[in-house]
Amino acid sequence: MKAAVLQELKKPLTFAEIERPRPGDDDVLIQVEACGVCHSDLSIADGDWKQFAAITKTPLVLGHEVAGRVVEAGSAVRDLKIGDRVGVPWIYWSCGECEFCREGYENLCSKQKITGLTVDGGYAEFVKAPASHATKIPDAVSSVQAAPLFCAGVTVYRAIKQAKPQRGQRLAVFGIGGLGHLAIQVAVHLGLEVTAVDVADDKLVLAKALGATNTFNSTTTNVVKELRRRGSAHIVLVASGSKAAYDTAFYCVRPTGTLLAVGLPSAEISFPAIIMAAGEVNIKASAVGTREDLREVLAMAAAGKLTCQVATRPLADANTVLDEMRGGKVSGRIVLTM
Ligand SMILES: [Zn+2]
Ligand SMILES: [Zn+2]
Repeated sequence: MKAAVLQELKKPLTFAEIERPRPGDDDVLIQVEACGVCHSDLSIADGDWKQFAAITKTPLVLGHEVAGRVVEAGSAVRDLKIGDRVGVPWIYWSCGECEFCREGYENLCSKQKITGLTVDGGYAEFVKAPASHATKIPDAVSSVQAAPLFCAGVTVYRAIKQAKPQRGQRLAVFGIGGLGHLAIQVAVHLGLEVTAVDVADDKLVLAKALGATNTFNSTTTNVVKELRRRGSAHIVLVASGSKAAYDTAFYCVRPTGTLLAVGLPSAEISFPAIIMAAGEVNIKASAVGTREDLREVLAMAAAGKLTCQVATRPLADANTVLDEMRGGKVSGRIVLTM
């Protein structure tokens, strides 16, 4: 089968003919129809995160926003059949038995396998996945639309849910890229008043179209001042991978509010304890999501409440797409089609 393969960190992907994966008894073989390009793919390929570089399989097929059709099912597979449309998320497999799995945090499983990092992902014609973790895609959602929900969508959905939002509260999103533009829609759906912050005006235009009440360009506006004038935000979600976004976002959190750490800069971030204490500010991180979160996000999309801004590109463009992402030029989500 054709695949885009990361042979070595920091090198462009090579396009190769590799052996089609053979599903085990509990696996399905999926013919990939769409695979989203996530900023994490870039961080993995570039070896930006020491923690990930240490566990990166090489050679590796990237891609953890996979949507496709089951073309083969192992002998022990009961819940999926040939022809079903399914997706494969970042959490490729979780053990179901460790402390975290038992507490309902399968997304933090201590034995987890990760799609497109520790096992091959979806920048290929086929991928195999455990049937237990391949999640069915509702008929109303196309594969191209569904793919980005398997990482970007579920990540922002779980993060916002963790802040326990109440209707009418104010939420600010920093970074209106693949994650941010979905966060706006989830927040609007939950009845929150949304402020969008980015450094690119075209992304702010998109934010407005998706229902953001206020939009600010942080290169030309004093965002902290503007948000404070409006009472600051109950929830501030940082979807940007820039440290500068965190440095500003922290000061936009209303006392008792929550800063949601979702975007992942490679630099460390820090906040003054005195201001955290004075405002009883919560800092909450969130890691992708569980299968339950995923089903809820897919249901939201099927109900027409969540539409990913998608541009499709052929698999052969994978390197170009990663380059565009390096330059911060991607608005919405790019999905590779096979
Ligand atoms: Zn991702
Ligand atoms: Zn586990």
